[in-house]
Amino acid sequence: MSDLNVVGATHLATVRDRGGPRRGAEQNQLDLVADGAVAIRHGRIAAVGRTHEVMAEWGDPAVPVLDAAGKTVLPGLVECHSHALFGGERHHEYAERLAGASLAEVAARGGGIWASVEASRSTGDSELRRRLARSYAHILWGGVTTLEVKSGYGLTVAEELRQLTLLEASRQDTPMQLVITFLGAHVVPRDLTTPGPDVEPSQVYTELIADDMLPAVARQGIAQFHDVTVEDGYFTPAQARRLMDDGRAAGFTPRVHADAWKPSQGWATAAGAGAISADHLTYTPDHEIHDVGTTETVAGLLPMAELIYMTERRANARAFIDRDVPVAISTDYCSSIHATSLLVTMTMAAPWFRMTPAEAVVGTTLNAAYSLGLGAECGSLDVGKRGDLIVVDCPHPHELFLAPGTPLLEAVVIEGAVVHAPLVAATAGEPTNHG
Ligand SMILES: [Zn+2]
Repeated sequence: MSDLNVVGATHLATVRDRGGPRRGAEQNQLDLVADGAVAIRHGRIAAVGRTHEVMAEWGDPAVPVLDAAGKTVLPGLVECHSHALFGGERHHEYAERLAGASLAEVAARGGGIWASVEASRSTGDSELRRRLARSYAHILWGGVTTLEVKSGYGLTVAEELRQLTLLEASRQDTPMQLVITFLGAHVVPRDLTTPGPDVEPSQVYTELIADDMLPAVARQGIAQFHDVTVEDGYFTPAQARRLMDDGRAAGFTPRVHADAWKPSQGWATAAGAGAISADHLTYTPDHEIHDVGTTETVAGLLPMAELIYMTERRANARAFIDRDVPVAISTDYCSSIHATSLLVTMTMAAPWFRMTPAEAVVGTTLNAAYSLGLGAECGSLDVGKRGDLIVVDCPHPHELFLAPGTPLLEAVVIEGAVVHAPLVAATAGEPTNHG
């Protein structure tokens, strides 16, 4: 929790917080300040504005200065959907898919999420944590200052609790603010024993989550959210609704994986249950978006998932924005998608979804923060929020969108502390705190 003055930015994209996520035309505004400065004291933003105005009051010579002349300053990016804790490798599956294999063929050969569940269960704590720390270093250097991480490659009471324990311990391995989500309802485990051949495994597993996992996760006290998949062939809307309601009774606000592979009534189910977010939405039909209308639920769109999964359609971002639904963007970093850079994902989301640069920036900052219940804490450059920001080497934020993948990120600031060269430290050996 440091003091810092960031001065002389050619542009600050403040993304001012007006008390909620941005929706409709408001998602298309960055609230740019030319020749901008941010004063951070004790890790919190104390002032934002034109450099001469901010420095007239806050120009204490004892406070370190970060000169952002010629640069753009954005709020620290908020990654609101990741599955960073997993064992094993799945790159061969992607190569098979690219060579023409179907998802079903890859799954039949032992691939898919189940492969990661088995690999994660058989990987020891220290190795999982080492891999996680390495992933955090990459994610951080994609401009992320707040990261949501899910369990969900365990799928037994004991393994889900172990994953949550590891995620909690991993707070020591990164300066990023972590938000931890319990995702027992990721997929139905293949090794589940059912009472008979006529009993649906998804129903048996739904009851296991409701009766055993949710109470144990609540007692453990680590998870902050409860995520549920609504997807044809995974969990039905009725099963998911039951889990969301039971989770809420146990103290968890629901998040949802919806319509990633097929239209599955995922969006309507999530919005109907008051989920704080529903993510993927690749196959959500336009009529469902229209009928559900505006929501408090944030629609989380995942362009890298659609790219790597080679889906036959893309989420209809324009329909969500037209219906005044707040849209967030994230990487979906997981065992089968190793896109760690939210900055690159943001620049790609614009042409992928036909979003404007401003809509994509808002989707990776303020709206993502609200989708994690952290609107009051981060996601914009507003007085009182965490002193989290990034400095990129271009004079205007639109320039980023012409340069996807170019390493323009110059500095990541978390609670006023400049984070340096995290990649080297994290890949050199034991997990380290880069704060
Ligand atoms: Zn996911």
